[in-house]
Amino acid sequence: MSPVKKLLTELEKKKVFFFDLDGTIYLGNQLFRGAVELVELLNKVEIPFFFLSNNSSKSTSDYIKKLNDLKLNVTLKNLILSQHPTIDYLRSENYQKIFLMGTESLQREFQQEGFILTDNDPQIVVLAFDQELTYERLVKTSYMLQQGLPYIATHLDDRCPTEKGYIPDAGGIAALLFKVAEKMPRVFGKPNKEMLLFKLRELELNPEDAIIFGDRLYTDIKMGIEAGVTTCCVLSGETTLEMIERSETNKPDYVIDGIWDILELLKK
Ligand SMILES: [Mg+2]
Repeated sequence: MSPVKKLLTELEKKKVFFFDLDGTIYLGNQLFRGAVELVELLNKVEIPFFFLSNNSSKSTSDYIKKLNDLKLNVTLKNLILSQHPTIDYLRSENYQKIFLMGTESLQREFQQEGFILTDNDPQIVVLAFDQELTYERLVKTSYMLQQGLPYIATHLDDRCPTEKGYIPDAGGIAALLFKVAEKMPRVFGKPNKEMLLFKLRELELNPEDAIIFGDRLYTDIKMGIEAGVTTCCVLSGETTLEMIERSETNKPDYVIDGIWDILELLKK
């Protein structure tokens, strides 16, 4: 069977679709072709689908707004962000006073979730995709890490693709802090497989019922493999065919140019 036919047979069996966002559904503010039609089609055939992003530079409500401004008709229930498992953890461990390296948008979400954000005697340092990072905030974090405060991160992607090129992501900021404090945070977003498994448990589905589409081998594809979910790498973001060939452990089950290919397949 040709790889395309095999993928089509696989898609027909799946009961839930997971999609990465940056590099998979859009780049910056530019939607990839087929994205709107794909969402319409999945809604029409009543296949549950979720957008999964490590990008914690925005609160969940600002994210929904961005997706809907792009004309992707998406609701809260379609979205899984790296701050969600992070907030779950903070709550389960009873942390209340937090030093958050994150944007104002994310700070609002944490405050709405009941956390106190402070640089005065916090219980834990939380690193997110802080696009409003200042040198002052780096200095404060460096001191806190050297004092031995617990340290976690929503995710640790090194860089984030945009229309003009890559920009430093939370992993880049963590690398900088590592040079100072020699500590790395515990991570809750992708590739932590819980990001997929908690949703599958909720839906009472098995990993075999799911497929994930993503552009990154060391987050999307790795998480899919570890969760036991079928993986499909799109070449519209960070990963090239050469990178897939070179990768020893994070090999996707399928490779396509972009999500427009799935739309074509599903239309058949
Ligand atoms: Mg991506």
